[in-house]
Amino acid sequence: MTTSSALPSVFEILKPAVGPSSSHTLGPLAAAREFAGRAAAASPEGGPGRVRVDLYGSLALTGRGHLTDLAIAAGLSGYGPRELAGRSLDDVSREVRAAGRVRVDRTELLFDLDRDVVFDAAQRELAHPNTMRFSLVDRAGGILFLETYYSIGGGRLAGGAFGELQAARDERGKHTASDVVTECERLGIDLAEYVYRTEETAYGRSRADVDAHADEMWSLMQAAVERGLKADDVLPGSLHLERRARSLYARFLEQLPHFHVLSPEASLASIYAIAVAEENAAGGAVVTAPTCGSCGVLPACLRVVQEKKGCRDDEIRRALLVASFVGSCIAANASISGAEVGCQGEVGAASAMAAGAVAYLLGGSVHDQVDRAAESALEHYLGLTCDPVDGLVQIPCIERNAAGAVSALNAASLALLSGGGDHVSFDGVVDTMWRTGRDLDARYRETAQGGLAAKPSPRS
Ligand code: SF4
Repeated sequence: MTTSSALPSVFEILKPAVGPSSSHTLGPLAAAREFAGRAAAASPEGGPGRVRVDLYGSLALTGRGHLTDLAIAAGLSGYGPRELAGRSLDDVSREVRAAGRVRVDRTELLFDLDRDVVFDAAQRELAHPNTMRFSLVDRAGGILFLETYYSIGGGRLAGGAFGELQAARDERGKHTASDVVTECERLGIDLAEYVYRTEETAYGRSRADVDAHADEMWSLMQAAVERGLKADDVLPGSLHLERRARSLYARFLEQLPHFHVLSPEASLASIYAIAVAEENAAGGAVVTAPTCGSCGVLPACLRVVQEKKGCRDDEIRRALLVASFVGSCIAANASISGAEVGCQGEVGAASAMAAGAVAYLLGGSVHDQVDRAAESALEHYLGLTCDPVDGLVQIPCIERNAAGAVSALNAASLALLSGGGDHVSFDGVVDTMWRTGRDLDARYRETAQGGLAAKPSPRS
């Protein structure tokens, strides 16, 4: 939940998720779960009410490929990402489809998965491009209870119990990175320490809570890399893409003694990023960083640095907090929603998070190097479109995670090799990203109507 007093929490930026999309899968899952509890209380005596869900904007256009309807079925059934561990959205939705209803505690709600989720792409006047309206209706079709939710990026929500959309927007510009860096310098603390203090003062979370969360996220990230490097099946959906991480990794090991176009570290980061992005595309368990579509970048970069430099897990933990700080600045002052600002808000944001975290991990100073690394990484993603082919988080998303990881390492390296500040500040780039995103035609904001999605050129 977004508070009006602080940057978004590390618990919001890095959190357990199921793929393939944070805004189109994870957000609707959470909205459906929240709605189900309230709808059960409002359900009429003498017969269950029926749940109807209307999806608008980007959710209507790419929701099928992003499994939005299946996520809604699981959320109405009480599942969150943790409860889904070991079960797929397909499994749960098959049961819901067969039953034609969901059970919430002791109350049943009628829900026909094929009829009661309406993809309404015609609606144009929307407060947010990812808008969902959940209704509970009686037998005569009368609305008993209605709630509107907005999936604002990274699985974060506004509406319902999640706070007002306007409140999230009112945060823009209130918490700049430069203010935080100045504060860190005044207090003589680093960014990770700043995050600890913010979690305590703004969200009431102890240092132990934050540590436990960061450790859990790192362990989930590592598990996603491991699974991704072993799997060799075909990804779900119309493209029938074979996974590549396993074979890429095998070839990388074979060719290790020979010449590499990239450094072995950069090649490995690419492969790890693809491994996690493929897990996400398969609907697997990942961690938003800051979104599902971009979830491979940060774990890939941190894993490579840990392997090559031998970082301790507590150092990785602090680097995750720094990454989260970078992501929360972007979420608060611009957007991490592909539907709002294109892929610059997803892979661009992930690359900035990873660059800042790597610069921090390698001893960079808060002002000159961490900030600069994040700025440099994001700068080169300005204007990046979101154009998922067939509405699936596969092409260009999977390889884009690899590109984001290599860019992050490059930005961190340049920042560490550089001396003082830069002509452009991180805050300046974040603001530019927001304005550029608002200028992007809707075809390039997760609608699958422009770019590669509009004119795929399959190899023969
Ligand atoms: S193109 Fe980027 S923003 Fe769009 S779905 Fe893929 S990863 Fe997400």
